[in-house]
Order: sequence, then C-alpha cells, then structure tokens
Amino acid sequence: MAQKIGRRFEGKVAIVTASTQGIDLAIAERLGLEGASVVISSRKQKNVDEAVEMLKNKGLEVFGVVCHVSNAQHRKDLIQKTIDKYGKIDVVVSNAAANPSVDPVLLTRESVLDKLWEINVKATVLLLQEAAPHLQKGSSIVIISSIAAYNPQPAMFIYGVTKTALIGLTKALATEMAPDTRVNAVAPGSVPTNFAAFITKDEAVRKVVEEKTLLQRLGTPEDMAAAAAFLASDDACYITGETIVVAGGLPSRL
Ligand code: NAP
Repeated sequence: MAQKIGRRFEGKVAIVTASTQGIDLAIAERLGLEGASVVISSRKQKNVDEAVEMLKNKGLEVFGVVCHVSNAQHRKDLIQKTIDKYGKIDVVVSNAAANPSVDPVLLTRESVLDKLWEINVKATVLLLQEAAPHLQKGSSIVIISSIAAYNPQPAMFIYGVTKTALIGLTKALATEMAPDTRVNAVAPGSVPTNFAAFITKDEAVRKVVEEKTLLQRLGTPEDMAAAAAFLASDDACYITGETIVVAGGLPSRL
C-alpha cells in the first residue's frame, strides 16, 4: 500500500482515538503513510506501546498516549500531550465504541444505556470540546458511525441507535464548526475485528453476512481507512456534515 498512496497529510497532525487495533489502527497507519504525525491511543498502555512500535517499524511518525475516552483527565492529557509534542491539531478521528449487552431494548438496564451513550456519543463531544481551541483552519473531524446507524440489528439495537446519533452529531458539529473545520463520518459495514468477532468467527454466520453484501465479502480495516483518509484530506474540502457508508452495498440511508 505504501507505494500506491499519496502524501495528503504531509505536515499535518492527526489524533486517532481507540486506535491500537482494528479499524482505527488502520486509519492511523493510513494517515501516517500519507505523511501525518499520528497520535494513537487506547485504554491499555501495553496496547499503546505495541501499536506505536509496530507503526514506528513501518517508518511512521507516531506518538502514543493512554486514553480511555470516557475519562476526563485522559482526554485532557491526550490533547495536551499532542500540543506539547506537535503544537497543533489538524485531524481528529473519533472511534471508540462499546456494545456491552445483547438484551432487547425494553430489557436493557439503565447502567448499560448510560455506558452506551457515554462511550459511543458523549465522549466524542467532550473530546472535541477539549480539542477545539487547537484545531487549525482547514482541519477535519471524522467520526466512526456504523451501518447499524441506518438499520439497527437485533442484539445490538441500542448500539445502533447511538450510531444513528453520531450521524446527527456529525451534521450538528459540521454546522457549528464551519467554515474552519469540516466534520464527516464513516459508517463501516461488517469488518472482521475483535469488536465484530461474534459475526466473523463463526463460518456459517460470516457467510450469511458476506452474501448480504452486493460485493460478496466483508470489509477490511484498510477499506475503512481509505474512506476516513479521503474525508480527512483536502480531496474532500467541499464535503462536510456527510456520512460515507463503506459496507459493500448493504442497504443504508434512513
Ligand atoms: P476493535 O478492533 O475491537 O478495536 C477497538 C480499539 O478501541 C482497540 O484499540 C481498543 O484498545 C480501543 N478501545 C476500546 N474501548 C475503548 C475506550 N473506552 N477508550 C479508548 N479506547 C478504547 O474495534 P473495531 O472493529 O476496529 O471498531 C472500531 C469502530 O468501528 C467502533 O466505533 C465500532 O463501533 C465501529 N464499527 C465497527 C464495525 C465492525 O464490523 N468491526 C462495524 C461498524 C462500525 P484497548 O483495549 O487498549 O482500549
């Protein structure tokens, strides 16, 4: 991939949350390969260290900070350490999500509803409040939603609803942060990561999911990274408030 891609993020500083594995690690790698100084983060120091090492071994400029997105001090540290090291922020990719319950909506405990709201929606707002004073003119935010935003699925209905909320949040922030900062979202389809292991580990389930897509396959983290990098880059300089669905043709739109 390194040979095929451009250098759209030369001189830019990008923060990618929840980025020590899966989709956002691929996004961090893509932004780094295209020239960004990338700040990665997640809850566990060991995961941060390993991901930093992996990306450095690929020749990327990368810095790691522990950040549990629902911890106020961690969010503050993530932004402050980025500013101390690189002096500005050009791109924020907000990614973290939880899906702690498979209960039907009407049986979901209040504590679970609170956790879903806190991690999947509120943390993005609070992180951007912290980042806002440092965002450059021409900066770009990418929020990771989901195909489930359009069609919430049984066993993950409320998760889907939080992802629908992110589409609304994307539009609201795009209005509020224009014209200096663009805000867009990516809505991934099914991607075989730890998060989606329940879909992709079981061969029979995986086959059903694959066959539902027009392209007859699951997505890859790199597919998602390509879309996120496009939205974050100046190639998308006249796009804001939008969500790109990257789901192999699964039915979307509200
Ligand atoms: P993943 O492979 O399981 O990776 C999750 C990453 O997030 C890890 O680096 C994890 O590291 C970190 N993390 C988890 N909770 C966190 C928290 N509270 N604060 C900070 N970091 C946290 O997940 P993924 O599949 O890439 O999912 C990424 C995003 O894509 C999510 O928003 C998800 O909703 C969305 N999505 C995924 C799919 C799919 O099929 N995979 C489909 C649609 C949407 P630590 O354990 O060290 O914290």
